[in-house]
Amino acid sequence: MGTYRCLKCGKTVSVDLRFEKVRCPFCGYKILVKMRPPIIKSFKAR
Ligand SMILES: [Zn+2]
Repeated sequence: MGTYRCLKCGKTVSVDLRFEKVRCPFCGYKILVKMRPPIIKSFKAR
């Protein structure tokens, strides 16, 4: 699974990477940019 954002309508789309064709389900746009998952830094400060 990957989270992508449509360049056209700006919606966030969760796409299973097993599917080759990635397309925005909202507007049908083919160009989606991959969004990085939020990195939670959990090191201890002391
Ligand atoms: Zn779209």
